[in-house]
Amino acid sequence: MEPRSAAAAGKDFPYTARTTCYIEVHEDGSVTHGNDRTAYERAVTGKSRLFAVWPGEWSSHLFAIDDLDEYAKAHGIKHDEERTGLKEHVHDVQWEKSSYGNDNPRSPYVSISVSLTCGCTIHDLDSFAAQMSDQRGWAVATSGGWGSSSGPEGTTYSLRVRRKSLTG
Ligand SMILES: [Zn+2]
Repeated sequence: MEPRSAAAAGKDFPYTARTTCYIEVHEDGSVTHGNDRTAYERAVTGKSRLFAVWPGEWSSHLFAIDDLDEYAKAHGIKHDEERTGLKEHVHDVQWEKSSYGNDNPRSPYVSISVSLTCGCTIHDLDSFAAQMSDQRGWAVATSGGWGSSSGPEGTTYSLRVRRKSLTG
């Protein structure tokens, strides 16, 4: 069976779907399952080739992962501005404690409202949390509720941040 091209499927290729199953074919011909950063690094340096099985309704198709850049962005190995809405820079962040959700002073988390005056948007909270951890030392809660509201002055996000990490 000749594998199809994942690159040809473009952004529609389900890189991160739970049903997509990755196969790595190593130089010596051995075959392993799974995907992670080390598999990407081997594939980039030509030490292995990555394939994915995309199960269809009637049959499964074998795809060659021939766009490793797209693969890395989908899996968060490389930063992707388009997917995350976030530039790879130090964000201009304005924040204040929310007027609601902070009734319990002993809660380890504080609800804050955040706006990004640098023009970025938050599509992916995990990526934003990682950037805020690097840039400000914030521990942003990534499980549970967060939201955004848009008004004439832009988009405001409501997030929960660990109280002790919220210093600047
Ligand atoms: Zn920004």
